[in-house]
Amino acid sequence: MNNRIGLGYDIHRLVDGRKMFLGGAEIPYIKGFLGHSDGDVLLHAITDALLGAAGLGDIGEHFPDTDPKYLAADSKMLLKKTVELIKKDYKINNVDAVIIAQEPVLSPFKKEIQRSVASVLEVDESMVSIKAKTNEGLGEIGQKEAIAVYAVALLSRKE
Ligand code: MG
Repeated sequence: MNNRIGLGYDIHRLVDGRKMFLGGAEIPYIKGFLGHSDGDVLLHAITDALLGAAGLGDIGEHFPDTDPKYLAADSKMLLKKTVELIKKDYKINNVDAVIIAQEPVLSPFKKEIQRSVASVLEVDESMVSIKAKTNEGLGEIGQKEAIAVYAVALLSRKE
């Protein structure tokens, strides 16, 4: 078997005065993500899932947030660079993600997010699954202070 699975996780604090991007799609909301880059928590989790599956470390090693080069970086660009790296040796089979957000309600945007992620990964939309749930009002996520994402990716080694 040449399949390899990877897990990614990320959380970003919600702040005023920033646009919200999830999976590269702009989501209308009163807040956005605090972060060195655009704070796209979904793309960061997916990037880490891919790097993990390939055994290539994590997003912080590849794109350090201490590097001014990545200030206000477009997370789509960071993921695209990761995909280029991965695709030398691996094919992306599928990606599955769970967004944990008390607000905004994401169900109307899931399709758009799925499409956007698939285009960055250069895979068919059917290979990307985006799920969203609340945190039942519990903790910081439930208090709308942050949004977190878990993602898994399955790669297979090219022959
Ligand atoms: Mg992040």
